[in-house]
Parts: sequence; C-alpha cells; structure tokens
Amino acid sequence: MKITQSIFHAHINCPTKCWLKFTGEPADGNAYGEWVQRQNKEYHATLVHRLRSEMPPDGRADAPTQESLKSSKWRMGFDVAVATSQNLEARLDAVERVPPEGRGKSAWFIPIRFVFTNKLGKSEKLLLAFDAFVLSEVLGRGIGLGKIVHGYNRATLKVKTSTLAGKVRRRLDKIAVLLSNATPPDLVLNRHCAECEFQTRCRQRAIEKNDLSLLTSLSEQERADLNGKGIFTVTQLSYTFRPRRRPKELKQKREKYHHSLKALAIREKKIHIVGRPELKIEGTPVYLDVEGLPDRDFYYLIGVRIGIGESAIRHSLWADTIEEEGRIWREFLGILETVEKPVLVHYGSYEKTFLNRMCERHGKPPEASTVAETVRAGVNILSVIFAQIYFPTYSNGLKDIARWLGFNWSAGDASGVQSILWRNEWERGEAPLPKEKLIAYNSEDCSALELVARTVSLVCQRTQTSNSEPPDHLGIVIANNLDSKATMWPKFNSTIEGFEAIIEFRINNGYGLSHSTSGRV
Ligand code: SF4
Repeated sequence: MKITQSIFHAHINCPTKCWLKFTGEPADGNAYGEWVQRQNKEYHATLVHRLRSEMPPDGRADAPTQESLKSSKWRMGFDVAVATSQNLEARLDAVERVPPEGRGKSAWFIPIRFVFTNKLGKSEKLLLAFDAFVLSEVLGRGIGLGKIVHGYNRATLKVKTSTLAGKVRRRLDKIAVLLSNATPPDLVLNRHCAECEFQTRCRQRAIEKNDLSLLTSLSEQERADLNGKGIFTVTQLSYTFRPRRRPKELKQKREKYHHSLKALAIREKKIHIVGRPELKIEGTPVYLDVEGLPDRDFYYLIGVRIGIGESAIRHSLWADTIEEEGRIWREFLGILETVEKPVLVHYGSYEKTFLNRMCERHGKPPEASTVAETVRAGVNILSVIFAQIYFPTYSNGLKDIARWLGFNWSAGDASGVQSILWRNEWERGEAPLPKEKLIAYNSEDCSALELVARTVSLVCQRTQTSNSEPPDHLGIVIANNLDSKATMWPKFNSTIEGFEAIIEFRINNGYGLSHSTSGRV
C-alpha cells in the first residue's frame, strides 16, 4: 500500500476522497480544483527558476537521488523524490542543506514547500510535516524544521515539523486502516466538495441515499449523534420534529435552529415558519452583492440594484486592480447619496465584512449623514431567515433558495469558486468574456437577492396576520400549528403484541429506532 503526498493530502480533506483516489475511481473533474493545481505548478516552476538563477551551479542540484543526499555538498536541491521501505512517498519541492557545524557533525536538511496562495490553510503545515516525516525516515535522522514559501511576495513561514510528527503518524495509521477496506467509508459531503473532482459522483449518491450530510448546517457531531439514534436520512430526521410551546420568559429570545424542521420542509416541499419573523425595509431597497478575492483581500466588483422589479436600476462597479478598490467604494457611496431613504439589503456576513473593511481602508461616509446610517444599518436577509423561515432546500445559501423559487443564473456553472476562476482568467488574458460573465453573474445575484427578500417579506406579512391559520395556498406552514402526532413516524403495525407502544415510546423520548447493544429494542 503506497501512501503518497496526494493520498495524504486527500485524507486531510476527506476520507472518501482518499479512498477513491487510492482505488483509482474515475473522477469527473472540477474546474476550480484543476485551476488550483495549475496555479501551484506554475508557482513551483517560477520559484525553482528564480532560486536556481540565484545560486552557483555547484550550490544546487536538480532532482538529486535519495541515495546521494547524505554525501551531497549542494545548498539547495530541487524536486527531491524520496521513498521509504514502508511505502511512503514524497516529492519535495526543494530541500535546503545546512552544512555541518563542525567535524563529526551531520548536515541538516530543511524540506521546503511552494504554495501559490497568500493565505495558508490548515493542510499546508501538515503536508510539510508529511514531507519532513518521509525525509527523516529516509535519512534516519530527525527533521525539526521546514519552510513554506508562499504568495505573491514569496513570504516564508518556518514550521516546527517535529511538533507535527505525532499528527502525521496518527493520520498515517488511519489511512492504512481506511485503505485496507474493500469498500469506501460512509459518504459525508463537506466543505471541500466544491473543489473536489468527485463532486458530481458524491452529490448524486448522497441524494440517492437522502443522506444527512446534504444538510449543510448539520455539524459533524450533530450528525454523529443522530446516527447514534438510528437516524441516517433527511426523511427520517423530518419525522423527529416536534412543535413545542415556548415558556413565556423565552418568548422574546430567538428560537434555536431546528434541523428536523429543515428536513420536514424538504420532505413536504413547503416553507415552514417558526415564531413571527420580521423584515422591515422602510425606504428604497438597495440590493448589494460584492465579489472579491479572499486570498488577496481584494474586492473588485460591487453590484447594486436599486428599487424593485422591472424599474430597478443596476450598477456594476468594477476595479481592474487593487489600487482601484478605493475608487469603486467612493462611487458606491456616491450612488447611495442619490437614493431617497436608501436601505442596504444583503445576504450573509460577506457584505457586512466588506462594508466594515471599506470604511476602515478607504474612509467612512461623513458622520451623521444618511449614507453613514445606511452603511451602518444594512439588512441581512439571512439573519431573518435563520431559525425562523425554513425553505425546502438543503442549505440556506442564496443560490439554493433562489433556485427553489424559480430563479436561474444565465451561466449554469455560476458559483463563488467559479467567479474566482473567471476573475483569474480575465487578469491573465485581459479577455473581455470572463469580465462580462462576472458582471452578469453578480447582477443576477442582486436579482436573486431581490426575489428572496421579497419572498421573505411576503412570508413575514403572512405570519404577522395569520399565525393561527392552517397551511395556506402559498405552501407556507406555521410549524407551531402542526399537529405533533401528524409529524411522527408513519403508523407502525406489528404482529407482536405491545411492540408498537414500545416503538412509540422510543420515538417520543428521542431514542430513535437503533438497536441497543444488549440486543433489545
Ligand atoms: S466530493 Fe466531497 S464527499 Fe466526495 S470525495 Fe470529494 S470531498 Fe469527499
């Protein structure tokens, strides 16, 4: 069983990916994932070229063999392939050799990784520690230090790889167990799926299985707890929702999020409401959606939609370079000044962060002005939805909800990660097409936001006036009015006397239908 960097990396992201890669499962591909790989490859080539040119020929070595490492005299070796007798393999971007400090002493070796991003994720240090681990096994001596050279400015991060060796070892043990199985581990969709080459396959299977991990808000622990109770599917979870009367003293407090109600909404294909959500937009709605490059901390496109419906006015403020970010911010403030009683409407925390950062970076609007108040008091539609309005969608993402409401993006592959790719294509070629796509995508996000906001507003109006009514023709269900008996598991008929009562007792007391270890139900 050969464990390479690629297998180790896959395991950090997802055990299923690790197993699929190891067994050679054909992948569907993923444009974003492929772009990341290309970026890293180019970054690697550029850095190697640069470092080579800065060194005398006898100070460097290209692809030195592992047998020659101990006797080497060079300062820097590039593309160093190492493999252990336990079948661990790594190809190190570079290895720095620090000459021995005296007679009888050995040289040190420092593994180096090249990473194109400015910000480093959790996996980078662990991957470097894997490289160091394999190198130390090959050399038969400890490797205490490694380096990551990353980003535009080629920043160097020093990492104490010795402190991560235990983590590497434990992960290698887990990988060995995983790969010795003939079947893949239980499928769990996760954050990495968006950039994974198996995304289509896994999503399809999760939908076929109606798997709990389709619910993006469910944490790993919550899912494990539910599995422990014998609940594995979204439909099973939907039957566990119980409407509960809240004690008077808690009435003003916000409800907690009910995963079971989300599942029920999906099963019933209807919007479910808890409490009395409120949405106040007293003025002219200004729908805001911003595109940025998180790795560069750069916002390059501000999309604005003023007013509603056909008469809405759209603006797309585009920055070619990071130096132009301040200009588009000032243009945005200028637009707000022209709107009568503007109310900024956005979805999620990304735009709120943008507003705060722009105020810090490029200046706030004048104190006590209408624009200053508008920027301060934006309306976050997601916070109105959260724990109060349950759309029949697996996530509360704008895309999922707007699509359920019938909205379509002109580009079928439109998504956050795709937008990063388009911007990169545009920057490299200055070709107009990716810019057009981005502007259309962002503008459609604003339209989708308007649709979702208007739906939420309608739902809020309904609940303010008809809390005691049964589900109405819009498909809105007031969760508190549900008959708790009607939401239980379907009627179970057993030929064994008393069995039904036991099952009902278990369900009502949150035990689910799993078998106990003693073999009794
Ligand atoms: S798509 Fe998601 S679940 Fe499937 S292998 Fe990739 S990361 Fe894992």
